[in-house]
Amino acid sequence: MNDPEELVFLPLGGCGEIGMNLGLYGFCGSWLMVDCGVTFGDDLTPGIDVIVPDPAFLIEKIETLVGLVITHAHEDHLGGIPYLWRQLKCPVFATPFAAGLLKRKLPETTLAESVPITEITPGGEFSVGAFDISLINLAHSVPETQALAITTEVGTVLHVSDWKLDPKPLVGAPTDEATLRRFGDEGVIALMCDSTNVFVEGRAGSEGRLRESLIEVVKNCDKRVAIASFASNVARMESAVRVAEATGRRVSLVGRSMWRIAEIAKECGYLRGCPEFINARDIGYLPRDEVLMLVTGSQGEARAALARIAADDHPEISLTEGDTVIFSSREIPGNEKAIGRLKNQLARLNVEVITESDAFVHVSGHPAREELKELYDWVKPPLLVPIHGEARHLIEHRKFARSNGVPATAVVENGEMLRLAPGETEVIAYVQSGRYAVDGRRLVPIEGDVVRARRRMTFTGVAVATVVLDKEGELVQTPQISAPGIVDAIGEDKVMHEEAISAIVEAVEKMPGRQRFNNGKLEGAISRAARRVFRSETGKRPIVEVHIVRV
Ligand SMILES: [Zn+2]
Ligand SMILES: [Zn+2]
Repeated sequence: MNDPEELVFLPLGGCGEIGMNLGLYGFCGSWLMVDCGVTFGDDLTPGIDVIVPDPAFLIEKIETLVGLVITHAHEDHLGGIPYLWRQLKCPVFATPFAAGLLKRKLPETTLAESVPITEITPGGEFSVGAFDISLINLAHSVPETQALAITTEVGTVLHVSDWKLDPKPLVGAPTDEATLRRFGDEGVIALMCDSTNVFVEGRAGSEGRLRESLIEVVKNCDKRVAIASFASNVARMESAVRVAEATGRRVSLVGRSMWRIAEIAKECGYLRGCPEFINARDIGYLPRDEVLMLVTGSQGEARAALARIAADDHPEISLTEGDTVIFSSREIPGNEKAIGRLKNQLARLNVEVITESDAFVHVSGHPAREELKELYDWVKPPLLVPIHGEARHLIEHRKFARSNGVPATAVVENGEMLRLAPGETEVIAYVQSGRYAVDGRRLVPIEGDVVRARRRMTFTGVAVATVVLDKEGELVQTPQISAPGIVDAIGEDKVMHEEAISAIVEAVEKMPGRQRFNNGKLEGAISRAARRVFRSETGKRPIVEVHIVRV
């Protein structure tokens, strides 16, 4: 499809959406994968929490996939591995922190032994097939985030996914300006760059300054304080410890992922000098004004600690008047309703809620406009390819880069193969891309029948009719119909239920004898008859499944 002498970039996830990052670089007949993330389900994917990119393009030539490099330990960059590994089966390269998280995710899928993970040193160098890779430290909201300088015979590409500039990131190294400048001076072919916050003026803000602000905020709190943030934000976790020290409190971690991240962080040498965290069940022994909890669930996730606390349904923790919840996190688009529900529940408990809009309690992990400009200045890219963004972010990033002196830009969405070198930059192919839903233990295409039927069921309901016929095609007994989510077989709905049964009997009896032996025709007639009753009574058109039993 592409000339083997050409270097191409092909995103299968993360370009045209925020989440589910999966980028491919192709050169000399082999493919290098950068990141393999997940995104999360919403109202349109009922019952589905996790969504992964469709790897179909690679599957038919899987032997050409030489490796997968993970840029950092966020779900949208490594969460897809446990689900896609059986198909990918390639060497995985990750820094110790990301590898620690990945290994803990794999036992859940019994893959721990079979995934070959090579730990790479932050800021180090290694080669995979025809690709020589230099890692470059970036500040972000998780330790050990790396940019990749990917060098081939036709030049070097800088893949700078999630990053920010922060002179005091507190945990992990700051963004390595000197190395980025060095690559800029040596000359790169292209810069792939984070677009998440391209609409934000100014700068992301420093974790160091945030810590000072959190101390001031917590000083003014009376009783228990709960800080809600992402577990993977180790710097924020360490900040909670320092805030507690400065305000005479002790820190408890609440939520399984908080403990998991704390354990990995300690293994990797972070959180040194932090006192032991207190178990949630022991909080009750502390005076209320000596408690600082770091809780999961800042996005309103139903099963997370904060949702359970807000619903007064947590086995060990309750909040009441005088207590405070600080949302030290961003409201991720799409989660507004769930977060709003949480805030209402907390308000009913008379708990004070403090968010980004009330006080300086959060800094972003992604670059705002001033930071993007600085990066262009260091790297001097002849070509900018916006990544990590929805269409509106990618297009705004193109405009912004152009207006700041970047000579060329190329916007590509998932499935578009972009030639980077040699020769003209252009989209040279469109390949299959899409999404797979993780539905229980299997993967199903998001545009496929299963998810479509699931969606319809939640909107209109589903009814199942059972009709038993004898060898003459006569009804043996009264048909049965059950319609959970549509009718209640008692009370007022009882009439509708009986009407539906009568309509089915009538539909069968009206059918000429011969046609009653044609299952397709019979099912169609029964389904239409029942649906007509439901529609006239409820105004909705449920799916009606028909089972024909012949005795
Ligand atoms: Zn990301
Ligand atoms: Zn990230």
